[in-house]
Amino acid sequence: MNKAEVLGRWTREKSEELYGIKNWGNGYFSVSDSGEVLVNPYKDNGSAAVSLMDIISGVRERGLDMPVLLRFENLLDSQISFLNNSFNDAMKKLNYKGAYRGVYPIKVNQQQQVVEEVTRFGQRYHHGLEVGSKAELVAALSVMKDKEACLICNGYKDEEFIDLGLYAVKMGFKCFFVIEIPGELEIVMERSKALGIKPNIGIRIKLSAKAGGHWTESGGDRSIFGLNMSQVIAMVDELKEKNMLDSLRLLHYHLGSQIPNIRDIRSAVLEAARVYAELVKEGAPMGYLDLGGGLAVDYDGSNTNYTCSRNYTVEEYCTDIVEAVMTTLDSSEVDHPIIVTESGRTTVAYYSVLLFNVLDVEKFEEHHDIPDKLDENTSEQIRNLYDVNRNITLKNIQECYNDALYYRDEIRDMFKHGRLSLRERAFSEKIFWNTINQIAKEKKKLKNAPPDLEDIESAIADIYYCNFSVFQSIPDSWAIDQLFPIMPLHRLLELPKRNAVIADITCDCDGKIDHFIDLHDVRNTLPLHEMKNGDDYYLGVFLVGAYQETLGDLHNLFGDTNVVSVRINSDGTYDLVKEIHGDSVSDVLSYVEFDPKDMLVSFREKAEQAIHDGLISASERPEIMRAYDNGLRGYTYYER
Ligand SMILES: *Cc1c(COP(=O)(O)O)cnc(C)c1O
Repeated sequence: MNKAEVLGRWTREKSEELYGIKNWGNGYFSVSDSGEVLVNPYKDNGSAAVSLMDIISGVRERGLDMPVLLRFENLLDSQISFLNNSFNDAMKKLNYKGAYRGVYPIKVNQQQQVVEEVTRFGQRYHHGLEVGSKAELVAALSVMKDKEACLICNGYKDEEFIDLGLYAVKMGFKCFFVIEIPGELEIVMERSKALGIKPNIGIRIKLSAKAGGHWTESGGDRSIFGLNMSQVIAMVDELKEKNMLDSLRLLHYHLGSQIPNIRDIRSAVLEAARVYAELVKEGAPMGYLDLGGGLAVDYDGSNTNYTCSRNYTVEEYCTDIVEAVMTTLDSSEVDHPIIVTESGRTTVAYYSVLLFNVLDVEKFEEHHDIPDKLDENTSEQIRNLYDVNRNITLKNIQECYNDALYYRDEIRDMFKHGRLSLRERAFSEKIFWNTINQIAKEKKKLKNAPPDLEDIESAIADIYYCNFSVFQSIPDSWAIDQLFPIMPLHRLLELPKRNAVIADITCDCDGKIDHFIDLHDVRNTLPLHEMKNGDDYYLGVFLVGAYQETLGDLHNLFGDTNVVSVRINSDGTYDLVKEIHGDSVSDVLSYVEFDPKDMLVSFREKAEQAIHDGLISASERPEIMRAYDNGLRGYTYYER
């Protein structure tokens, strides 16, 4: 124990360790001397750090309510630089003769502002875009300026898509069509002949290498996209026959997103580089090797091959790739290609932080008021439960737990059959929860707790009701149990005494977060501070820039949150560069085809009828109509 602990003082360092901010923060996030979370895109320049609490008050003063999604421009800038510099450094160090050209896959965060900023910040590295649909191609062509950057077209392509891509080639863009299914080649050749524009063709291959992780179905033999090796050869033959092999410029694969293990990445690169060398031997000019996405984000900060982490750094990823490509191609005496990667997650994950306030807390009640002796006419079942409660020891916690559940169920049954009163059942529940709480306390003393008791902490956790929707703002937390770092934004010099699970305001039983990051495991509860009467308490969900924004849905008609773009200046000031107001109630209703104008008319008719029926007076009607109208205009979340 250090001195602070002996004195019972909680410190900044303790908070940093408890919430793991240094592990997952990538140097961008930390805790200040006054116990608030800081953001700092400049990493080493300490005087540039800004407290998220200051930004919250700034946002509130400007009239925007929680929840708010903050997007930090500089973090995007910094991640793009980091990725490009890491590849460039690795290439220099290993004496690689080709170059790196990253592309940003639009699907990872399609918001106009994000795509626009990626191309702006990416320009100095010729960082391009990847599109997977016609709509994304149309979007990309509206923001792209850099003719040195790549524009990679994946996905199914119809004539319209191909024509547009061919015109982009004619206008000087480095636009590639990646053939995903064998039938696509014919349309590309046909349209290219019709328009008289030579295409840049790529092939997507299926690798035999398969990777671990959530999203691996898109790689490997069984993936739905890509050509197997006999289809690749058939395509080469067809191109040769049509005298178009000189259009074959790129080889592509995509293993899946968030690949936690570097070994899977390495073995895929080796296999693809072999195919690349063979295509060159077949006489294709090639020049580009596109390794897709997969570069993972360390969401829990554990640096392991667990699904929400990765057992490598970005620098190691780059070095391993460059090395694998070089050794494979050098041995076949094939020139080093331009290496393309389609990293979306790593580029944008850090960029966005979701902030919200806690609305209410349901505290777990410890029920200290269990009597020393039972009333004489207490029923036998309650007596049994009471005996369990009185006899808990470290040795028998598993047995006590089973017995407590058994007697509780029996008591519930008796209540259902009318043999116990509501008062008796309420009394038995007090005893039950007191028992579970004692068992949980005993369990803490054990190194290896019985597996049945694994979830006991969440059973006795407080519930913190928070002003956001899991379904709208962090859908992957619900859909695939992805973990995101979550922590309080202030009071970090105080010991967080409560253990909590988080409930959102959708009133859906899935609208909750009850798994949290941990260095060695997954936590069932999150340590939080006790609410002080009337004071606001703010939490942040970090690393939500990738995939969360457009996957989100309108569950219970909670709409888009307010979004504020922030630029942090190197002197520690900040500017709110852009604000996008979240959906109003009438916005979300019109998404599901209600017409707010009709709704007002129909509500007015009801109010008029109520006057007719003598339920309200005519002079009350304007007030009532105003309430309805305010409801339509309001933010979909809890407003102050
Ligand atoms: C989704 C996708 C990506 C993005 O992958 P990340 O691992 O998120 O960087 C890249 N390429 C293709 C073809 C994709 O479908």
